Amino acid sequence: MSFSLSGFSKTSNSSETKHVKMLILGSGPAGLSAALYAARAELAPVVLTGMELGGQAALTHTIENYPGFPEGVGGSQLGELFQKQAERFGATVEFDTAQAVDLSQRPFKVTTDSGVYLADSLIVATGARPNHLEIPGEYELTGKGVSYCATCDGWFFKDKKVVVVGGGDSALEEGLFLTRFASSVTIIHRRDSLRAGKVLQNRAFQNPKVNFIWNSVVTEIVGTEKVTGVALKNVQTGETSMLETDGVFIFIGHTPNTQMFEGQLEMRDGGYIVSNLYMETSVPGVFVAGEVTDNHFRQVVTSAGMGAAAAIQATHFLEKQEAVKA
Ligand code: NAP
Repeated sequence: MSFSLSGFSKTSNSSETKHVKMLILGSGPAGLSAALYAARAELAPVVLTGMELGGQAALTHTIENYPGFPEGVGGSQLGELFQKQAERFGATVEFDTAQAVDLSQRPFKVTTDSGVYLADSLIVATGARPNHLEIPGEYELTGKGVSYCATCDGWFFKDKKVVVVGGGDSALEEGLFLTRFASSVTIIHRRDSLRAGKVLQNRAFQNPKVNFIWNSVVTEIVGTEKVTGVALKNVQTGETSMLETDGVFIFIGHTPNTQMFEGQLEMRDGGYIVSNLYMETSVPGVFVAGEVTDNHFRQVVTSAGMGAAAAIQATHFLEKQEAVKA
């Protein structure tokens, strides 16, 4: 999918500008479900993929809890299916990223890597990104043994020892996936009980390759050319120790991708965009869906549902605007 310039017109400042009824930012389950519903309402929505087509879900090896796939489905495969279905009804998916928005008047102005969009309605589905530990060695060794994606990087750790930081669903799910490659997976958690659901907990406890270090935090990732170990601190006793490892996978939650909207859309703690039952934001005509507003459910199915709801409501919004004009 290329960024077609044919529909763009020159503006006075000579940037390329395209006017659309609905612009959707983000191509995860929320954005692509919104695109499906908007396309079926004949709004010819344009989806800007952002950096990752398919969003975070596309980085998940197998999704086992999306209804309709009793055997599970690959994350990227599900993303492709979402895209195909939306395109079938007239959605356009562009490999492009929004860099700035001006929501002060309609049509909303969205400046992207490739041009400028003027949008009568906007659905923000920009998702969230993984949190970092912010400890010495983390940035320096990212890509050299430090990773935030087991599906992407697990293969590099064949027959090697890895540690996983975190105690939630992501840590256990990704840790279990890593047992396909690694000789051992040590999960380091800052408490003595896991946040993850019982099904994943049971699987992890039963897997002979998985072991746990409780009540401990990683204070430094050690290595020069590549990771060789982690420095640990027991948060109860204060005791410090070193653990040899070839890889460090970090799964300690997420931060929503909302910087672009600061000062323009109402946000709550953590930078999540405030929305109501109808996926409306503080600006009429701007709707929201998925993990950019939801830090509670964070499931593919709930994000997809929010995307559908946002598109239905945006369609009503545009119909009302048309009625006022007529
Ligand atoms: P999460 O549930 O927020 O868990 C983050 C984990 O990291 C927690 O165990 C937390 O410890 C730990 N942590 C946070 N900051 C830390 C730090 N600075 N140092 C050390 N540890 C730290 O995040 P998640 O696992 O990514 O899950 C996010 C959401 O997605 C959840 O709602 C989850 O249910 C969902 N999800 C579902 C599935 C699935 O259904 N298969 C898969 C993945 C994710 P504490 O426990 O002490 O707070």
